[in-house]
Amino acid sequence: MKAETEVRPHVPRRGWLKNGSPPGDFNKAPRCGAKTRKGAPCPQPAMSNGRCRFHGGKSTGPRTPEGLECMRRSKTKHGYYSAEARALRRHTRELMAWSRDWLSRMKKMIKEGSWVNKSTREL
Ligand SMILES: [Zn+2]
Repeated sequence: MKAETEVRPHVPRRGWLKNGSPPGDFNKAPRCGAKTRKGAPCPQPAMSNGRCRFHGGKSTGPRTPEGLECMRRSKTKHGYYSAEARALRRHTRELMAWSRDWLSRMKKMIKEGSWVNKSTREL
């Protein structure tokens, strides 16, 4: 026995597609047209920027302050080489060098006897 199958003529669909894409003939969509490795124009349907999903170009990166901050946070591992940390280490080195220099000058003055403590002189 042969199973009966309902045969319906193809009825053109109406209404919007998934993801808000407009209805219509796929073949009438504007084409990408980028030069492919074969040298022929790309036949893929174009996006709003005029190119297909393969030839849309590189990302231009984050633009909003929130996006930039998110990118910085994701790229920073420990912050050892951040401008702030490097400036702090530089300042510490300068302070240590100044302290060593000052200490050696004090020792030299004490050895020569030219060092006079103000607090003992006043007494
Ligand atoms: Zn393309």
